[in-house]
Amino acid sequence: MNNHDNTLSEFEILKNSDLTPHNIKDLQRKDLDLLPMIIYLEENKLPNLQKEARKLLLQAADYLLINGVLFHSSVKKKSRRASNLDNFQLVVPRLMRNLVLHMCHDSPLGGHSGIKNTIDRVREHYYFSRLSTIVSEYVRTCHECQIRKTSSVHTKAGIISFPTPSAPFHVWEVDLCGPFPLSSAGHSHIFTAVDMFSKLVFAVPLHNCDALSVCHALFQLFSSYGVCHTLLSDQGSEFISKGTKELCKMLEVSQEFTPSFAHHCLGTCERSHRTLEERMTPYIRKGRPWNDILPAVIFSMNSCTNAATQYSPFEVVYGNRPQFPLSTPHDLDLRDIPKDIHVYLKQMQQKLNTIRKEVQINVEKANAKMVERVNKTTSPLKLSIGDYVYLHDEPTGQGQKLQAKFSGPFIVDNIPSPHLIKIRDPEKTSEDFECLYT
Ligand SMILES: [Zn+2]
Repeated sequence: MNNHDNTLSEFEILKNSDLTPHNIKDLQRKDLDLLPMIIYLEENKLPNLQKEARKLLLQAADYLLINGVLFHSSVKKKSRRASNLDNFQLVVPRLMRNLVLHMCHDSPLGGHSGIKNTIDRVREHYYFSRLSTIVSEYVRTCHECQIRKTSSVHTKAGIISFPTPSAPFHVWEVDLCGPFPLSSAGHSHIFTAVDMFSKLVFAVPLHNCDALSVCHALFQLFSSYGVCHTLLSDQGSEFISKGTKELCKMLEVSQEFTPSFAHHCLGTCERSHRTLEERMTPYIRKGRPWNDILPAVIFSMNSCTNAATQYSPFEVVYGNRPQFPLSTPHDLDLRDIPKDIHVYLKQMQQKLNTIRKEVQINVEKANAKMVERVNKTTSPLKLSIGDYVYLHDEPTGQGQKLQAKFSGPFIVDNIPSPHLIKIRDPEKTSEDFECLYT
């Protein structure tokens, strides 16, 4: 059976479904798997079969009715993180299951996240039996996900990781994605910025990828999250332009550059830029006004658990997981709301401190692991000054298979650091160096 109904637009499905508590209540009662539990909780009546009655009694402690709607409580407070989650999940009747899956995975808010993140998102607010199996199967058979899957990228050189900043918004890594097919508003590129601490993603659609557009985008970034200490980028002309330099100088932001072909040295952030491109592709491919979808996709990325930090960027920044449609209704909010704003702020501060301390530990661990993993698969080149080297070219365009795969020879001129080798063409006498980053 195909669970994916691609003819339904992401918003239509929400528009056309009746998600009032009254309807949910109704659908739960029509689901024969849920009915016995509801009858037991309401009327204290057990099924006639002894085996079923025993099973129901064992499970009953995990269920409760709130205004007639069945909820499940399964959060085992194993980790500190779980204790931040909602304690109750809406029990999803069979007829609503696809709607929930569609919303948590296919909609722009779901952003076609991977299996783990989709399960995480569904489980946060909803419950049904065999949840992880059903969600895995759903994501695995998703057409959009299958056609845009990328294989893991092999890096030839070893990598170094960038030191983790100590708080959000101190260091941003910025990049440009595109060119994309023109959006209905005439955008061709996306300016992206990833906060090196929280991995929060910020994006602005651009009409142009020139320096002026980039300056505007940077200004929007600083107006949203404050002026940062350091801006990391590759050496693209729009980032090294006079305008960008002036803007940074004026705001006392220090600019750092990575060589374009050693981009991967930024590791986890580079991954976020790639994820954005991947997640935008299904919408851009459908020729939609993709600039309208962009904020939802950014939201989906910021609400997904980051593999390195083990938290969603949203959580690291705001201290809470974001609300989703169908989340525990507001009038049924079961958490204690502190009455006093000072108490609230104090509790929030404590929660954020806990989260951010853990993030720092997790990121350092993840970075060390990544560097070890990548460097294990590379064969480090041992070079000395005076050695001759050939460079591997990646031929592109027509007839690429017939083009030479190597250029050179070059001569090793200087090795200023283990990660930097300067080479020059022996035919030329000029001071024209090329830098090799390993
Ligand atoms: Zn998908």
